[in-house]
Amino acid sequence: MEGKQTQRLVILGAAESGVGAALLGRLQGWDVFVSDGGIIKPGFRAELQESGIEFEEGSHTEEKILNADCIVKSPGISDKVAIVKQVRSAGIEVCSEIEFAYRYKGDSKIIAITGSNGKSTTTKLTYEVLKNAAYDVAMVGNIGYSFARQMAERPCKWYVMEISSFQLDDIHWFRPDVAVLLNITPDHLDRYDYKFENYVESKFRITKNQIATDFFVVNRDDKVIMNYLETHSTHAKILYFTMDENNIDLENDGGYISDGNLYVKYDGDTMGMSIHELALKGKHNRYNSMAAGISSRVAGIRKLKIRETFEAFEGLEHRLEYVATIRGVRFVNDSKATNVNSVWFALECMEQPVILILGGQDKGNDYSEILELVREKVKAIVCLGLDNKPIHDFFGDDIETIYDTRTASDAVGAAYLLAEKGDVVLLSPACASFDLFKNYEDRGRQFKAAVQNL
Ligand code: ADP
Repeated sequence: MEGKQTQRLVILGAAESGVGAALLGRLQGWDVFVSDGGIIKPGFRAELQESGIEFEEGSHTEEKILNADCIVKSPGISDKVAIVKQVRSAGIEVCSEIEFAYRYKGDSKIIAITGSNGKSTTTKLTYEVLKNAAYDVAMVGNIGYSFARQMAERPCKWYVMEISSFQLDDIHWFRPDVAVLLNITPDHLDRYDYKFENYVESKFRITKNQIATDFFVVNRDDKVIMNYLETHSTHAKILYFTMDENNIDLENDGGYISDGNLYVKYDGDTMGMSIHELALKGKHNRYNSMAAGISSRVAGIRKLKIRETFEAFEGLEHRLEYVATIRGVRFVNDSKATNVNSVWFALECMEQPVILILGGQDKGNDYSEILELVREKVKAIVCLGLDNKPIHDFFGDDIETIYDTRTASDAVGAAYLLAEKGDVVLLSPACASFDLFKNYEDRGRQFKAAVQNL
């Protein structure tokens, strides 16, 4: 008798999601091969070796890839890479790691969170609420373990998942029980042929497989989202959140702010708390909190547990993180602000005059969105980047002092000299960090170390 032939799973890219998919694939009986065109990080290489999973690095061997039944492509690999083009033209099924893992989820539930900004914060906050309510829950995706690894190592009943647009590009059946779309502002356009509409389409893929019993939690104040919804439909039940007091829909479920209180209404039952009780500060975090609150209510969490968590959760490292006050000057690390919109929210919630540390690798920034706030709140700009010309060109007429630096300690030193008692030094760069640092975490940590050394 002929047995069922083992299916071949080829994984392109051996980082967190690729290795996660490899581990899960093996567990599920696939013949797994991992191919990475670059150098695999030692930790991931060791894991593959220990698990006896075949892999290659530094090149992609066609014969070992084009015979796959299914390809899992790391979200970091662009469609323009030669091997991806070959795979696609050979008609082999390509899926993302979340799609692959989804097929093995059984009856577990998924809350999936996307948007241009606020994903990590909202994911962590939602996860904390579910954990506080003693749910069997894991936080996966861009934050923490990959979905596939979590499933291979410790399957849970609930997954709170942070998803980037790249991971949504190769989904086919992936269907979250609750999908959250926080906001859409231009980012990563280099990966979307510089067409904003392609990026928007990609974000909305989060709801494309949802059915009538699922929920789609969206920001009613976001014009891009609302315009899209006017011409496109979703099968899910939409729950809106808003901070616009003139746009509150009291009839239906959702989240809103009114008279200094944050409300979450679900199934006719309303939870309210003062915004001053939220440990997370800033206007943007009210959006994140409403989204997390609605998702948690849909997941069946009691109001008390949500309130308790909202009062305690202070946020993540590198997101408007308070560092220290030195001789009356406050230092705030917002290194994760790698686009202009997140700087807008950072400036918006600053109540003191600001020395702004800005710059890095520019993704084609248009600074007009923050010009007004910069005029109103910023005393001086300290550039921290290799090429600071765009910043000088844009702000030169409005800001008298613009200083160039190339290390975190020089930037902190210059900002401290420029600051007076009562000012805040804000690292909120609007740019990626790769010109001078390993990543945004490295930039944030060097900033904090420099502050501690003052
Ligand atoms: P993401 O995971 O989407 O990058 P984070 O929660 O890590 O989001 O926050 C990234 C940056 O965006 C931080 O500077 C943070 O202060 C800012 N931010 C957080 N939430 C929002 C929001 N809802 N709208 C705009 N900016 C936000």
